[in-house]
Amino acid sequence: MNSSRTWKSGEICRISGTYRCQNCHLAGRELTLEFEAGKVFPMCSSCPEKDVTWMLIRPSSAIRATA
Ligand SMILES: [Zn+2]
Repeated sequence: MNSSRTWKSGEICRISGTYRCQNCHLAGRELTLEFEAGKVFPMCSSCPEKDVTWMLIRPSSAIRATA
């Protein structure tokens, strides 16, 4: 389970990084966006729902691979 790493639209982003729209993921789409800490999570442009769940998949504070 990864419920501790998910946030909803309208909540404040606490960790800068790359996030995946879980609603898209469950629907078979792959939509990822980068958000910075302090920003408010937006709605997803690809989802009909107004509230979606964003899951952190890669914090930007981690050392970046050069690949
Ligand atoms: Zn979505």
